[in-house]
Amino acid sequence: MTDSTMESVESFRLRARAWLAEHMPPRDEAPPPLVEDDAHEWERARELQQKLYAGGFAGICFPREYGGLGLTFAHQQAFTEESDPYEMPLMLNVPTFAICAATLLDMGDEEQKRDRIGAAVRGDEILCQFLSEPSGGSDLAGLITRADRDGDGWVLNGAKTWSTSAYAADWGLCLARTDWDVSKHRGLTMFLVPTKAPGVTMNRIRMINGNREFCEEFFDDVVLPASAVVGEVGGGWTVASRQLFHERNALGGGSPFVSGRGEPRTMPRVTPPNAVRASGRADDPRVREMLGEHLTLTKVAEQTADRVSRAIESGGLPPAAASIPRLLHAEAVQRGEDLALRITGSNAATGTGAGEGMGGRTAIGYLMRQSASLGGGSTEMSRNVISERMLGMPREPAPDRDVPFKQVKRGR
Ligand SMILES: Cc1cc2nc3c(=O)[nH]c(=O)nc-3n(C[C@H](O)[C@H](O)[C@H](O)COP(=O)(O)OP(=O)(O)OC[C@H]3O[C@@H](n4cnc5c(N)ncnc54)[C@H](O)[C@@H]3O)c2cc1C
Repeated sequence: MTDSTMESVESFRLRARAWLAEHMPPRDEAPPPLVEDDAHEWERARELQQKLYAGGFAGICFPREYGGLGLTFAHQQAFTEESDPYEMPLMLNVPTFAICAATLLDMGDEEQKRDRIGAAVRGDEILCQFLSEPSGGSDLAGLITRADRDGDGWVLNGAKTWSTSAYAADWGLCLARTDWDVSKHRGLTMFLVPTKAPGVTMNRIRMINGNREFCEEFFDDVVLPASAVVGEVGGGWTVASRQLFHERNALGGGSPFVSGRGEPRTMPRVTPPNAVRASGRADDPRVREMLGEHLTLTKVAEQTADRVSRAIESGGLPPAAASIPRLLHAEAVQRGEDLALRITGSNAATGTGAGEGMGGRTAIGYLMRQSASLGGGSTEMSRNVISERMLGMPREPAPDRDVPFKQVKRGR
């Protein structure tokens, strides 16, 4: 589709407005109770995505040949604005669309793009990330899950953890070590792993807020075909770097593949404006000051994300710049959680927990405040990326650089 044949953003917006009003359910402002089994929420997200697909509004920025609409970020932003009053399949945004499908679009082969992106856009499949391991977090390239050649295929063994939504997913992008004779970044390969394959054991982890969205996985002799490799054998770090770029971009609010705004219904977050409404303290000058701070910081984070993602798209900034909005987003979310708690005051301690009431939900949201600075790579690592790759400051010392991985001393 050339620019001259592409529908204008304004015409797309008007068409979307009419379609949304007729087909999408209005957003339910009351968050659902925190329940152990959220299978129906996932089912609902798939249904809503199927509805968007049938209506011709799914995968706005994915190419047409992979099931999308081949339109621009501006079209997506217009749709997101219009879809605000309606229920949207937000659970599919991260990691399925913004991270995994986006990575496959950049690094996958034709079959992977057609099959996996196509199925996700249609609402048939969900994707997750198998990167982090119990033995290491920020040092991702030091991972020890291994894939060994077996004829044309591979056999996967090892363990992963912190995998968001893996229990609901159909496929995971799994980084594994395939060569122990080269340095740590060079011996990795990315695989597309079916989450229900024989040899995959998955457990859900209960978090401090009661949610069980994280999983840990054990891979015992999982057989993978040659077609499971994403990118080049031994080129896994290149794929992972792209994946981490998309992750930072998504968390910073700059992903063109995110459709709809806000948190999925399963996240019990109370924002400062909600806390003000619920506490009835809108006339308190100190509360107004805190609310002003929140609104300003959120606006700055949003506009920075927009500016940086446009600059990356046009080549004005390198992909590493996605660390800037990612960092700012973490700051804004954490300040938001802190302010909501201060506005709610003692109600946060005496509220009725996850089931009812703003007070309890504020406290439960606050328990997860740290996740914004860890998920998607920690903010310290974002600071490292900004200092080393954007500001040209000296690199961290790395005693394992250029050392064959099998000779690297590890904590075991
Ligand atoms: C909400 C959430 C969702 C997640 N989803 C997924 C997922 O779907 N899939 C997945 O694979 N993983 C996921 N993770 C895991 C996440 O990617 C890791 O938590 C993250 O990479 C940090 O690793 P760690 O927690 O082990 O911290 P560690 O690596 O143990 O680090 C601890 C602290 O030390 C700092 N630190 C470590 N090394 C350095 C250094 N060189 N310079 C400066 N500071 C340093 C870190 O920044 C951090 O603050 C998720 C985590 C969260 C919180």
